[in-house]
Amino acid sequence: MARFTLPRDIYFGRGSLEELKNLKGKKAVVVVGGGSMKRFGFLDKTVGYLEEAGMEVELIENVEPDPSVETVFKGAEAMRKFGPDVIVSIGGGSPIDAAKAMWVFYEHPELTFDDIKDPFTIPALRNKAIFVAIPSTSGTATEVTAFSVITDYEAGIKYPLADYNITPDIAIVDANIADTMPQTLVAHTGMDALTHAVEAYVSTVANDFTDPLALKAIKMVYEYLYKSFDGDSLAKEKIHYAQCLAGMAFSNALLGIVHSIAHKTGAVFDKGHIPHGCANAMYLPQVIRFNSKDERAANRYAEIAKYVGLKGESTEELINALIKSVNDCNEYLSIPTCIKDYGNGMVSEEEFLAKVDEIAINAIADACTGSNPRIPNQEEMVLILKSCYYGTPCKC
Ligand code: FE
Repeated sequence: MARFTLPRDIYFGRGSLEELKNLKGKKAVVVVGGGSMKRFGFLDKTVGYLEEAGMEVELIENVEPDPSVETVFKGAEAMRKFGPDVIVSIGGGSPIDAAKAMWVFYEHPELTFDDIKDPFTIPALRNKAIFVAIPSTSGTATEVTAFSVITDYEAGIKYPLADYNITPDIAIVDANIADTMPQTLVAHTGMDALTHAVEAYVSTVANDFTDPLALKAIKMVYEYLYKSFDGDSLAKEKIHYAQCLAGMAFSNALLGIVHSIAHKTGAVFDKGHIPHGCANAMYLPQVIRFNSKDERAANRYAEIAKYVGLKGESTEELINALIKSVNDCNEYLSIPTCIKDYGNGMVSEEEFLAKVDEIAINAIADACTGSNPRIPNQEEMVLILKSCYYGTPCKC
């Protein structure tokens, strides 16, 4: 038996934020990040529409990037005091992820993070509130997924919560809000979305329900990402939908080792962190090459290549065309090809080589590795990581 879960309603279209006016409820809490939603006026609009719907509104503001366990517990406590029957989260991945976890502890105050850290251990929700998610970036798709990442800074642990109970009830996918993204974020989040769709399509648990979503998302990224990067309004709207389709696919088909490696290289280097989407963009070509030694995955990559109109006589030629197209895309979007070239040599060869063995251990243990078409052993993972560092094709 397999399961396929999505939000009950997805409202989309420019201006669809207004749909909040038609929500039913008595009290709404709005969870938001550091200030861009306020600055661009979307927080005021959100509050205004909820008030028009007859609701009393309270805010939980200043959710930090990579939200902490403390932020989640504080938010859950505030929710318990206020007693909302509607939780609205608006912003990038962080406030939405934080709000999902707050929702769990609002409804189940007796739980700890330890109780829910394993996949599919979150008890039933929706006894107190429904959950509305409104993304301001075109990439994570947390508005439609069963995932939330919360960081325990004291213990140095990231909790990747995963359970269909935290899939939002309503997603509002309004490109007017995503227009606030700076150009670099358009590039990084766009490549994150492409990686979600490609990894979902070759995942070992990809299925008949997720495949069409993944393929359509990939096609839309190929058609619109350059134009979106260049500021075209329709293209921005299309990319906002494409990332959402990719999210529907990967929430149900899971991901692969591009994400495993991005998770474990994101914050491990001394001089700064590599943004998630940028990391995915650099690693995707290397992982396609590694996974293509698996026949099923090779055929699936070739299907993707054909579907987006790339040319090739054989599976191998189609895969090479796909890899080249991802590299071309990175070049257009000013994304470096490898870690060595990232941030003016931010990660020295010495530091990389000193850490590569441990990164490999952690990447293999990452939650995304299990659904990758080929499970690398330690030696292979080190070689993949080296290919990601030097930008040279993987030797395994
Ligand atoms: Fe991602």
